[in-house]
Amino acid sequence: MTLAPEAGTTTGRELKIVRGACPHDCPDTCAMLYYVDDDKLVDVKGDPNHPMTKGGLCVKLKNFPEHHYQSDRLMHPMRRVGPKGAGEFERITWDEALTEIKQRWTDIIVDHGSQAIMPHAYLGHQGVINGLTSGDAFFNRLGSSVAEKTYCESGSSTAWHMTVGGTGGLDIESMAYSKYIIVWGMNMTSTNLHGWPFLLKARKDNGAKIVVIDPVRTRTARQADWHIPIRPGTDGALAMGLIHEIIAQGLTDADYVEKYTVGFDELAERAANYPPERVEEITGIPADDVRTLAREYATAQPAAIRQGVAIERSRGGGQAIRAITSLPALVGAWRHVGGGTMEMPIWEFPTLFDKICMPEWIPEGTRVINELDLGMALTGEMKLDPPLKSLFVYNSNPVSQGPAQAKIMAGLLREDLFTVVSDHFVTDTAKFADLVLPATMQAEQLDIMVTWGHLYISLNQPAIEPPGECVPNSELFRRLARTMGFTDDYWDRTDEQMLRDFHDWDAPALRGITFDSLKETGYARLDVGLPHERAPHAEGNFPTPSGKCEFRSSLAEGGNFVVPVWRSMYDKMQPGGYVDPLPDYVPPFESPASNPELAKKYPLNIVSPKPHAFLNSQYANAADKQDVQGGQRVWIHPDDAAERNIAAGDTVRVFNDRGAFAGPAVIDDIMMKGLVMANVGHWQNKASGSTVNTITLDRHNQLGNAGVYSDNLVEVAKVVDPVLTPEPVASS
Ligand code: SF4
Repeated sequence: MTLAPEAGTTTGRELKIVRGACPHDCPDTCAMLYYVDDDKLVDVKGDPNHPMTKGGLCVKLKNFPEHHYQSDRLMHPMRRVGPKGAGEFERITWDEALTEIKQRWTDIIVDHGSQAIMPHAYLGHQGVINGLTSGDAFFNRLGSSVAEKTYCESGSSTAWHMTVGGTGGLDIESMAYSKYIIVWGMNMTSTNLHGWPFLLKARKDNGAKIVVIDPVRTRTARQADWHIPIRPGTDGALAMGLIHEIIAQGLTDADYVEKYTVGFDELAERAANYPPERVEEITGIPADDVRTLAREYATAQPAAIRQGVAIERSRGGGQAIRAITSLPALVGAWRHVGGGTMEMPIWEFPTLFDKICMPEWIPEGTRVINELDLGMALTGEMKLDPPLKSLFVYNSNPVSQGPAQAKIMAGLLREDLFTVVSDHFVTDTAKFADLVLPATMQAEQLDIMVTWGHLYISLNQPAIEPPGECVPNSELFRRLARTMGFTDDYWDRTDEQMLRDFHDWDAPALRGITFDSLKETGYARLDVGLPHERAPHAEGNFPTPSGKCEFRSSLAEGGNFVVPVWRSMYDKMQPGGYVDPLPDYVPPFESPASNPELAKKYPLNIVSPKPHAFLNSQYANAADKQDVQGGQRVWIHPDDAAERNIAAGDTVRVFNDRGAFAGPAVIDDIMMKGLVMANVGHWQNKASGSTVNTITLDRHNQLGNAGVYSDNLVEVAKVVDPVLTPEPVASS
């Protein structure tokens, strides 16, 4: 495909244009056009015809070509030459790297067994053959410990499946037809930018009211018609209070409830514990606002709820999502186009994760280690038998994104741990590696993108050759498989063959779509109903065991579980343990109300949302993105700052028993009193030496083993001599 030069760039020559898709852990999965001049990527634009992207990319993708050519990019395999953590490496060949991996892993397997090896991956890339599950078949064949990848969305996925099953739910595009929209726990204009215009259209065309529920008056909240600040980790109390009020005010859709739900009477009895005055006490939201929200939501149909992942990030987040996901059935919102709730629609995509992950290769009795427990697993706190002797990190940066940062770093310093990291740059995690391997970027590889924010399947085609010796993850695991002597034909396939094999092209959702047609169009909407007519649960039809929306969940009987896609499709060794079949408010581990003793020492709750200019920790090493994002700043309410004699711009230290980090104070009444905020994603060498996750608790949400990033108490103090880097407090 080519266009005339005036179509895009300034070279004066005709450019090759290749269709691509954004690789990032973002719901928008923008369709992109790569502009290539003589095998050099010279420009990247959003596809103007894509119904979501509409020609625009976000700030993260600004200068995307330059990102591919950044001077500190990893180009070759490297071996550590300095002390662990120093980030000192020398160039080696791929053969040398693979030989060393084989030697070290063979020795480990002989001495300790294959479960002493653990992969660590997340959504550093979102593709089918380069993303979350791209290494699962290899590690399952190796017999390593199975990594449970629950950084994000796992708690939501479990709660969603327990309540409405594996449905795509409400389409973001259908929200243009809504008359009332609640954005709950999501800063859409930073993290779902291309979804936001559908809400604005609903406001313009239908007079829809946009309500944002968020502890912080974010840039999204400032554009809403009504911002409702809520204490972190108390969303479940608000949702239960709304259920109570809707029932108390007689606003349920009795016919819908009767025909298409299970457990209404028990839910009503449970919700009766949450009258508005109690909800006010827990959440900080005035009781009258709770009543008003319940009435408006129930009566202004079609009503939509866009759920953000922030809700799951505290101890009771899973049950909060259960309660929120129950609301549309209670008021019959699912009956209407534009009614219902959206969490993430990946369940509509006919991706064959079993064929990707090959769970049948997992040896009987293989253990599961949750990635959020990495610090405990590496330091011996978990008392693993056998202990972990090797860690293979790809698509992830646990030192930045994992909880209990100091503990993870302590584990990575172990001399007897053989750590391999595949990445684009020497990240905060790669610094600790024994070997680093160079990975391709998106313009250099083929993939179909897993999409969790809309209903388009997208093909990314390679536009340029990989630089240096960079390889895509598909090729990385092919090389590792050959190195370890695996002769399975799984790894004999090309990338294209794998992509063809990893989708059910006969599925109704892919009607009229083929791999070859995607090569032409780049993307295609799944055949799951058009935005102006899609109402998937107008007549129930929920993919739950009962076929109904389960207020009382039948899946609770099996105990706590992680949806298999987050654990190599392994359905054994699930966490188990009692699960309340009814939604409820579960207090946080750490808040002044739930843990008053701890709050005497650490009185402030902290939240660490995703940054505007970085994608988690990606791009945080790029100067242009740092200019937009600013440093590791600490937002604090004016009253809390005054009590601590903190002035704007003062360097402050944020600390608890787990660690400490520092940054300049931003005094701003967008914050609730008692709350501080620092964005996740900054790199240590660009910050004070520690970053926000140094204070994060390494425990799990009650559902789906999700993290508790918004369930932490801290204290903040002015740093008297800001030249001194604050020492991390010893890990607990
Ligand atoms: S990060 Fe998200 S919004 Fe930005 S270009 Fe990629 S998919 Fe689009």
